[in-house]
Amino acid sequence: QSPLSALPDSGDRDVESTLRPRKLAEFVGQPKVREQLELVLESARRRGVAPDHLLLSGPPGLGKTSLAMIIAAELDSAIRVTSGPALERSGDLAAMLSNLVQGDVLFIDEIHRIARPAEEMLYLAMEDFRVDVVVGKGPGATSIPLEIAPFTLVGATTRTGALTGPLRDRFGFTGQMEFYEPAELEDVLRRSASILGVSLDAEAGAEIAGRSRGTPRIANRLLRRVRDYAEVRADGHVTREIASAALAVYDVDELGLDRLDRAVLTALVRSFGGGPVGISTLAVAVGEEAATVEEVCEPYLVRAGMLARTPRGRVATEFAWRHLGDRPPQNPRG
Ligand code: ADP
Repeated sequence: QSPLSALPDSGDRDVESTLRPRKLAEFVGQPKVREQLELVLESARRRGVAPDHLLLSGPPGLGKTSLAMIIAAELDSAIRVTSGPALERSGDLAAMLSNLVQGDVLFIDEIHRIARPAEEMLYLAMEDFRVDVVVGKGPGATSIPLEIAPFTLVGATTRTGALTGPLRDRFGFTGQMEFYEPAELEDVLRRSASILGVSLDAEAGAEIAGRSRGTPRIANRLLRRVRDYAEVRADGHVTREIASAALAVYDVDELGLDRLDRAVLTALVRSFGGGPVGISTLAVAVGEEAATVEEVCEPYLVRAGMLARTPRGRVATEFAWRHLGDRPPQNPRG
């Protein structure tokens, strides 16, 4: 069973899982979501019931999967993992649901990409712990109701807006994950360095944290690349100079923008005069899928103050022009 490997995500999955925090106390940052979750979980524990279904929302790499696993661990429950794209046939979901035992956590990553029939099956399962299994085809088809064990669904999505209303309404709680502060990423890096056995100066940690786009997964990935560099070109110890030199090799700039981020900004500024331009036009210009630009690049560019969303399209800010070394137009649009 490897639905997670079907996700369009980075390599190093095995390393990623060793770096995953296991307990809520080990989970760095997200004070708001953590407090909210603590209340939901503790109250369910006291009442001896399965907690409400939970939705975790936010850009990739902020810790949604990790949190889902922590939720299961805190509940002393088993976790079953799947993803929206893996549930194309509702029969697969029915099989998964009917195998759950009481109190299990079912984690569905990228839940906004679930196919319609599976989604409709999920409504009933979430609400009444029941599925209707359709047997046969055509006029002779009958549906057989099947009880399933009370479980907790944890959904993760990079786009809450892409969820249908009825699905969103069936979650008792939505945790909105935020980008991490540099100091929080330094904590993540310190922990990861000690797990990986990397000797990392504090200033080097700060340097990597500052270029990690507010994202623990990126911080961990940059740490591994910096480690490679330190091992191959130096004695393995990571100083600030080593970290900067390594990140230059991997085209990660001082603000943490990578090749794709810069390609998006460059297209916006140089091909479209700074905008406004629609997201799909922009995506075509950089040869990427619109969803990737919208879910992966855009949230961070907006947060970094380089890109603005307007009703007429995306607009480069003055800061973006300057970051690319271009002079902003005299009458900035926007
Ligand atoms: P998502 O599901 O949101 O894409 P993940 O839960 O897979 O994100 O997190 C990606 C990696 O980032 C994990 O392997 C983990 O090492 C690290 N990570 C994420 N959030 C945290 C955190 N709060 N504290 C420590 N490490 C984290």
